[in-house]
Amino acid sequence: TQKLDLVFQHIRHFPDFPVKGIVFKDICPILKEPKALTAVIDLFEEHVRKNHPHTELIVGLDARGFLFGPLLAQRLGIGFILVRKKGKLPGPTLSVAYTLEYATAEVEIQADAVQAGQNVLVIDDLLATGGTLHAACELLKKQKAQVLGCLVVVELKDLGGAEKLPVPVFSLLQF
Ligand code: 5GP
Repeated sequence: TQKLDLVFQHIRHFPDFPVKGIVFKDICPILKEPKALTAVIDLFEEHVRKNHPHTELIVGLDARGFLFGPLLAQRLGIGFILVRKKGKLPGPTLSVAYTLEYATAEVEIQADAVQAGQNVLVIDDLLATGGTLHAACELLKKQKAQVLGCLVVVELKDLGGAEKLPVPVFSLLQF
């Protein structure tokens, strides 16, 4: 579609970032072009209204999930909550540790962010190995939220991240 083309045209590819051998997908041009950003939110909104009409909250991942999540949530007339890297959120929190290629990381959520049984969708800019989204799903499961699915702008298919996740992933673009 025209909207997808517009999104595609606003992703840049940087070889050997952040380390040699990785081609980093840069989504910043989307944010710089209002028409492209509107297309992203239009496409997500369409998907959610059609497939997950009972969604009650959008959960955004630190940090680029924060760029798209609140816009989508506002479109849908629902709330937005944050999953952050450890140590950033005040008050009682829950956390889940996960392993990256060379290190471990931890994601955290405020203990009162979501109620048991609430229907949520998790959003990030990009799905690679799936480690980050998987940890976020674990965190939400701990709080007994109902995770309906994950949304990403870009999915790196070869890394098989989608197979690792307990819920379906909707991606606008696949590489
Ligand atoms: P995963 O946990 O699936 O391996 O990695 C996904 C996380 O790393 C996301 O939070 C995403 O923002 C970040 N990430 C990894 N590779 C890229 C990339 O090429 N481009 C962008 N924009 N983010 C990436």
